[in-house]
Amino acid sequence: MTSCRLCKRDCAPSSDLCNYHLTAKRNVESGYKQWSEAYGAITWKEYLKQVGQNKETGQWAKEVAELLSKESPE
Ligand SMILES: [Zn+2]
Repeated sequence: MTSCRLCKRDCAPSSDLCNYHLTAKRNVESGYKQWSEAYGAITWKEYLKQVGQNKETGQWAKEVAELLSKESPE
């Protein structure tokens, strides 16, 4: 069992994130579709930046957004 890439918790099955961060990641990913429908075209990277800066974003999602942003190409 390895630990989450963002915290010390154990990973969720077949994931490199814990349950909390995995759930947050799914929320961030599904939020992208809603966001682009509501605000028009936005790049994945730009979206992640917005998520990270949004006061409404929870701590888990912020950490996930940061990680995804680092991993995604410009
Ligand atoms: Zn975690």
